[in-house]
Amino acid sequence: MEQALTLLRECGIHPTPQRIAVVQFILRTDSHPSADAVLETVRRQCSTISRATVYNTLNLLAQKGLLKTQVLREGTVVFDANVKPHHHFIDEDTGDIYDIPWVALKVTGEKSLKGFRVRDYQVVLRGRRRKK
Ligand SMILES: [Zn+2]
Repeated sequence: MEQALTLLRECGIHPTPQRIAVVQFILRTDSHPSADAVLETVRRQCSTISRATVYNTLNLLAQKGLLKTQVLREGTVVFDANVKPHHHFIDEDTGDIYDIPWVALKVTGEKSLKGFRVRDYQVVLRGRRRKK
């Protein structure tokens, strides 16, 4: 709660209970939710929250660099509170998205691509998660 309040204030966003609920949820989850998924979850505890509040709060946090937007599911923007470089694994059975540590994979040759100046990249792996 305190962290969410501070964060909203630092971003110059007036901390309403609805916005605090959005921030608390998005910064704690590693599930890479869409805005609609955030809305659905936050509505369970804060029934008065509007779609516009959720979308605007998420977009403001993304603009401030506290969230990353990713298009990992076809046609859907998801929000990622992990803003450090990392890769992703998408489970094709469940649609779940997992963070893969940056150092777990090696990408080489990006600097030698002729005619391209690479600013950013990540590896998106797709498959099935092994049952333990
Ligand atoms: Zn991620």
